[in-house]
This record gives sequence, C-alpha cells and structure tokens, in this order.
Amino acid sequence: MTRDELATLDAADPLAPMRDRFAMPEGVIYLDGNSLGPMPKATPARIAAVVAQEWGQGLIRSWNDAGWMDLPGRIAAKIAGLVGAPSGTMMVADSTSVNLFKLLGAALAARSGRHVILSERGNFPTDLYIAEGLAALLDRGHMLRLVGADEIAGAVDDDTAVVMLTHVNYHTGAMFDMNAVTAAVHAKGALMLWDLAHSAGAVPVDLAAAGADLAVGCGYKFLNGGPGAPAFLYVAEHLLPTVRFPLTGWLGHAAPFAFERSYRPASGIAAAFVGSPPILSMSALEVGVDIALEAPMALVREKSVRQTALFADLVAQECGGHGLVKASPDDAARRGSQICFAHPEAYPIMQALIARGVIGDFRAPDILRFGVTPLYLRYVDLWDAVAVLRDVLASGEWQQEMFRARRKVT
Ligand SMILES: *Cc1c(COP(=O)(O)O)cnc(C)c1O
Repeated sequence: MTRDELATLDAADPLAPMRDRFAMPEGVIYLDGNSLGPMPKATPARIAAVVAQEWGQGLIRSWNDAGWMDLPGRIAAKIAGLVGAPSGTMMVADSTSVNLFKLLGAALAARSGRHVILSERGNFPTDLYIAEGLAALLDRGHMLRLVGADEIAGAVDDDTAVVMLTHVNYHTGAMFDMNAVTAAVHAKGALMLWDLAHSAGAVPVDLAAAGADLAVGCGYKFLNGGPGAPAFLYVAEHLLPTVRFPLTGWLGHAAPFAFERSYRPASGIAAAFVGSPPILSMSALEVGVDIALEAPMALVREKSVRQTALFADLVAQECGGHGLVKASPDDAARRGSQICFAHPEAYPIMQALIARGVIGDFRAPDILRFGVTPLYLRYVDLWDAVAVLRDVLASGEWQQEMFRARRKVT
C-alpha cells in the first residue's frame, strides 16, 4: 500500500466535503473524535448568537420566545433519527452518567422482584460505578454482577432485572450484536439497557428494531457537541406509560409552573427531565447533531470499516517488530469505529505521538486507542499517522522522560 493509493480513495470519497465543516488545527491528525469530537466551524457563531441575542437581549423571555424550553426535545428528535428511536421515546438531558442512574433506577422499579444488574467486566467504569452506587443506595439486596462479554446470554436468569452493556467497548472497539443480545435477554424476562456512547453517529443503530428497552448516549463524542455536552436517553414505547425515574425534579413534573406541593410525573419521556437544561451547551450540541444528520449512515459506516481495516493493515506493514498487538476485532461486523493496539509502553508512546500532532488516546493499562471518524478523517491521514507512529517507535523518541509524566486526563 502506498500514500498515492490512499490519495486516490480520498479523491473518490463522497464524504470528503464534510471535513470542511470542522475547524481542524494545522498539523494535527485527529484520531480522538471518540473522546471529544472536534468543533464544527458553525459552533462559535451559534453560541455567540445565543449569548448575545437570546440571553443578552431576550433575557428570561427567551425560555419562550427563543424556544429554549423546546430545545432539548428538538435535539432529541434529531438524535432519534440517528439511532432508530420512534417519536416521543428520546430525550436530551444531563450527562451519560446521570442518565444511566435514571434509567437503571427505572429498570429496577419496572422489574421489582428481581435484584441483579448484569454487565460485562470490561464495561466503561462510570457505567459500573453508577450501578454499584444505585444498588448500595437502594439497600434492598440489589447487586451488580459482572461476567465476560461472551458470557452475557448464559448469565441472565430470573433474578436479573436489567442487562446494561455498552454497544461498542471503549477499550477495544468490540461491538455487540445488539439484536441477538437483546433477544437473549428478553427470553429470560430481563430488560436491556444499551449505552451508545461510542455508537451514536458512528455505527448504524436501530433501537426499535432491536427491541431495546432503554438506552443512553453521549453528546460530545461522535456527535461533536462540545466538551461536557448534554447526553441523551431512550425509553421504549412499551415502558413509557409506567416508567418511574428515581430523580424527580421540577422540570419532569406534569405541571412545572403550577408549583404544586408534590411531584406528579409528566407523561411520557418528559418525566426524564430533572432540572433546567444547559442552553449554551444544548445550542452547541444541536450544531454537531445537524452535521451528523447530513451524512448518510451507510456511507459513514462503509468508510469507517474501510479506514479501521486500512489502519490495522498499515500498522502491520510499517510498524512490525515493535511489539504492537492489535486489540480490536478482525471481523468488521464486530468492530466499532476505532482501532486499538496493546503495548506495555502505550502511555509514553501516545504522548510522543501527541507531541507530533497525531492525537489518539491511552486507555489503562496498555492500550493505544485510535478513533476513526469518517466525517473529517482522510485516507492519507491514516498513512501520515502510521508514518509518525513508525518513526516514534523506530527512533525510540517515546523513551524521553517528559513523555512518562501522567497528566490528569489521559
Ligand atoms: C464516554 C462515556 C461515558 C461518559 O459519561 P459522562 O457522564 O459524560 O462523563 C459513559 N459511558 C461510556 C461507555 C462512555 O464511553
């Protein structure tokens, strides 16, 4: 494979024009859109307008006049289109962690005779921490049970209230078969909760077709909503009439401005609201979601599969003998939009790459993680990134002391 062959792929890429929608700094190859998506060029002007006009001039009138109150629902309807959620089943609110708490609480209430939240050992820590914390808080014999990713179906039993899985694993990029796992979980009478943090905007998802009961997802990864962007949550239609969320804030009340003495849930997904939505962050999120909606998911997935495969092939071709071990699945159908390699010195190697403008991330204990984001990643970027990786490994440049210092965010 040569750089020219990759340039030919770029010339024929129907998604190539999308790159211009993002502000990408000079000299950077960004392979971390699965941690923090880059800034759309349209975002600063949108935020500035919301601040100067809607807040500055409109003041409190903007909750009505600028549609602030409807903004979360409007963005939710757009995200719904990306993940196969029927109208009225999706809401944008809070963070992924907080939404997990709300939905796990709702799941345990809906399966009140059962005690177990089942997940996989390799799930993202916040998902597991939230489940542990909720079980401890309820103090009624609930527990989080962890098994291997391939042991899930066999581990569901009649004490399992809900199975909570992240569709695409943050560490390896391994992707569950959403339909098959959901069906196996339902066969045992448990509810299925999917975390779409590494899926929404990156891989095709059809929550309704899969029969998923509950889902959460993240606004600042492949949806490019900005640091700490609001997250989303989904509750299947069949659960909505009876769902009970454990956080009962005033904006999830049936009549928030009646200021009644007691909580009465709003009907439907609106009860998933807790408090006031962060309008500035919501405004930024909408810009990112609008861009994601412009790109046909089939094209995004096709390019993503091709780019992750090419990246792995290039690493094999250029970086042999340096101890990198591919940690992502070979089977494209089981791989999300990232490619990972294990190496005992992954941390300093990634720091050395970042110093050269090739930005991926390190995931403890030994993973070099490269997110592939077809909206702005060119095929030649793959070549150039792997060339830098080869140089960093061959020169031993990563062994410099400055690359070993651990920073707060890795
Ligand atoms: C990124 C990510 C989160 C993020 O949670 P926050 O509450 O936004 O910090 C949660 N779960 C998974 C699986 C993630 O990948």
